[in-house]
Amino acid sequence: MNSIEALVRPNIRTLSPYSTARDEAKGTPDIFLDANESPYPGLLGYNRYPDPRQKVLKARVSALKGLPTENIFLGNGSDEAIDLVYRIFCTPGRDNALAIEPSYGMYSVAADINDVELRPVPLGAGFSLPVEEIFAKADDRTKLLFLCSPNNPSGNAFEPSQILELVRRFPGIVVLDEAYADFSARGSLRAAVLEQPNLVVLQTFSKAYGMAGLRVGLAFASAYIIDLMNRVKYPYNLSQATQELALKALETTPEANIREIVFQRERLFKALSSFSFVRKVYPSDANFLLVKVDKADDLYEVLLQGGIIVRNRSRVPGCSGCLRITVGTPAENDRLLQILQSYA
Ligand SMILES: *Cc1c(COP(=O)(O)O)cnc(C)c1O
Repeated sequence: MNSIEALVRPNIRTLSPYSTARDEAKGTPDIFLDANESPYPGLLGYNRYPDPRQKVLKARVSALKGLPTENIFLGNGSDEAIDLVYRIFCTPGRDNALAIEPSYGMYSVAADINDVELRPVPLGAGFSLPVEEIFAKADDRTKLLFLCSPNNPSGNAFEPSQILELVRRFPGIVVLDEAYADFSARGSLRAAVLEQPNLVVLQTFSKAYGMAGLRVGLAFASAYIIDLMNRVKYPYNLSQATQELALKALETTPEANIREIVFQRERLFKALSSFSFVRKVYPSDANFLLVKVDKADDLYEVLLQGGIIVRNRSRVPGCSGCLRITVGTPAENDRLLQILQSYA
């Protein structure tokens, strides 16, 4: 057993997955009496089960991301992949995981659901990567480390060489969440999964690709880990509608929207920095800005009264006094700034 296999829960290592009705079939049948589906397409034509391997969509994602399909997992949002890594690697009530703090809330919710202890590791000064603290908090029951770059809610991306050094030294699985990588000049480390057997990179079509309502998350990892994820997932985790619509949406590229959002981000950064009640606008590699203000709760209410909802992160460790503001369209950002002008 190699060192990665040794990290996998024994019951998952030996799991025989559910075999779907069409998995076992050979040849090219044209009458399907195997899956107890309705033979009537009805109004929408969704009477058949979807492809559990998502072959067509996965081939498109493979071309888009430049990695073989055996290194790609598609899930019901990246939240599915977060839950899966807990279920694959962490024995409930026994193993633990580490996550940088502040970061994405789902790492700790999924840990709680799976009865896994999550040990937060506070980011250093300027939201820097706390490398030595990470190793200090790890023990022989630590299976996972969650990193997020660019990080939500701080907005900063970490130095790629620093992340890779952590991956090389860390004795467990490193889950690198790149939900916002499309907005960052630092790009993605997904290609590193071909060399690093303990690296799982998460991406999503929910942010830059504008498909949050469709629920498509991506994970990149070694063929061994991807195979485990495919065995543990629900067989039909992406609906037929989701697979078709995602494929359709990928006929266009989001590049122009990304450029506009990055431009607006820099515009908002400057404009927000000029208000007297703004203590600090943190530099962002993502599509949002973390803004430290006087009286965050009051400002949150003022914006809400003006019809704008932002994320109040002021009770999150390391983010006291902070609101997280997503970059909107130019007109939406105008309105935001207008309300802030009259508040000032
Ligand atoms: C938004 C977000 C996700 C995306 O989740 P989906 O389930 O794919 O919509 C993942 N990670 C982080 C850090 C996020 O902010």
